[in-house]
Amino acid sequence: MSDGASVPSFFALEPAAAEAAVVARGGKAFHARIIRREAAERGVLDYARMTALPAALRASLAAELPLVSAREAARRESRDGTIKLLLAFPDGRTVETVYIPSRTAGKGATLCVSTQVGCPVRCPFCASGKDGLVRNLEAHEIVEQYLFGRALGALSRSVVMGIGEPLLNFENLARALEFVRAEIGLGARKTTVSTVGFPERLARIAETNPPFQLAISLHSPDDEQRWELVPAMKGVPVDDVLAAGDDWFAKTGREITYEYVLLGGTNDSEGHAQRLAERLVGRRATVNLIPYNPVHLAQYGRPSSERAENFRMVLEEAGIVATVRWSRGMEADAACGQLRMRPAR
Ligand code: SAH
Repeated sequence: MSDGASVPSFFALEPAAAEAAVVARGGKAFHARIIRREAAERGVLDYARMTALPAALRASLAAELPLVSAREAARRESRDGTIKLLLAFPDGRTVETVYIPSRTAGKGATLCVSTQVGCPVRCPFCASGKDGLVRNLEAHEIVEQYLFGRALGALSRSVVMGIGEPLLNFENLARALEFVRAEIGLGARKTTVSTVGFPERLARIAETNPPFQLAISLHSPDDEQRWELVPAMKGVPVDDVLAAGDDWFAKTGREITYEYVLLGGTNDSEGHAQRLAERLVGRRATVNLIPYNPVHLAQYGRPSSERAENFRMVLEEAGIVATVRWSRGMEADAACGQLRMRPAR
């Protein structure tokens, strides 16, 4: 997926280069396609288990060209079945990827992937941006998260809601999602990208009608408060963000979801709900309300379920479809906002 110069691994190579690498070791070009298919479709992450390949080819690839560059550095599982992987890249940097099995057996899992090491947006309620941005992930490093996820089980959906701001590493993300669509079969309606919503970037991306659903993290109907809660958006009025959402819908025909983290006593009052409703009424959008998940570095309250429900009712009475999303994976620190670059100490 990149020139692979820094880290030679099978999935870091463009398909043509990967074929050449296989041929150079005595294999056939179609063996490269078998390797891609075994990993992407069947979750096999070990050449030794790819028995459709000649034994000599398996041995020489295993010795000289690792399949993926990342290694699983840690794993935590919570009682609800959510699995959080800490993946380490050759430069020692790590990201987290979360595998969330469906509550219905046999329905596959949702994978939550990261796009950056750290995050430059620095929302005060989120652990991912605590130390700012370290670096962007390469396209193949995003792809590898999907391969590790697929190795845990079938994937039915994915959400680009892990560490990082997807629009600030969009080129690499777009290349990775093209692979995910073509090789894993998660297409336009099965992947959701969540962003703080830079209007000009969204306008440019909407032109290309990319194969994913869009979610915009709003968090407040009021400019000043949004700028506090989403510091990288300082100076961009909420109206401009909503207009970018409207433009997205007009160009792609796909409805937007607005995400709203409910911070007890901060942005969860009835007044906030009413002002949010006024902003959204008449727009083609739904709202996901995410009760704050405690992060040790931040001092926000977690709203009670009654308070969350009241907020939702105000929106509903204004004709806006809203759902309260209680995050999964809390005991493994794998819930929204709890992902960071290193395992919690
Ligand atoms: N950078 C992207 C993806 C972030 S994760 C974005 O901002 O959209 C997905 C959602 O989880 C975002 O809406 C984010 O604001 C929210 N979130 C972050 N920290 C949280 C926390 N501690 N509790 C609940 N939701 C949180």
